[in-house]
Amino acid sequence: MAGIKPRLAVSSCLLGNPVRYDGTDKYNLFICEHLAKQFELIAVCPEADAGLGTPRPPVRLTGNPQEPLALGIEDSKLNITPILTSFAYEWLSQAKNISGIVLKSRSPSCGLSDTPVFDQHEQIQNLGSGLFTQILIKHYPQLPVIDEIGIKDPKQRNTFISRVKNLTPL
Ligand code: SF4
Repeated sequence: MAGIKPRLAVSSCLLGNPVRYDGTDKYNLFICEHLAKQFELIAVCPEADAGLGTPRPPVRLTGNPQEPLALGIEDSKLNITPILTSFAYEWLSQAKNISGIVLKSRSPSCGLSDTPVFDQHEQIQNLGSGLFTQILIKHYPQLPVIDEIGIKDPKQRNTFISRVKNLTPL
């Protein structure tokens, strides 16, 4: 319908919201100024929105690269995997008219293919996607996804935007 912008979900910290574990943001000028002209931007922070609070203890992906856990960096007994997983399913069940998502890179929740996965010796053994992103992609493989790095690349950005405009929204 003319005048209605397609709706994109965006990792909340990229929109300038201070929701990171340390209370900071990762404001992204391109997303906030340029994408906002073409799309309605809806913030999602899987960690803060799941009720983990800000600030909160930092986590990282650990264990089997195919099925990693999100464990505390300072306290490996802290396991937020179940909270993040439940939040992802709840978000998916309630998402309305989402045509694509722009994600924060390297995050244990939001990362897209470049989040470090650590072994039990605290060494990076692989790179993968964050837990929220994994569930999103698994359950909605048609949804156009890109991260803050890809959106800077004209070719990746154009492919993403064209897919968004041709998708029947989630
Ligand atoms: S990367 Fe994702 S989980 Fe982390 S602060 Fe940003 S929106 Fe929240």
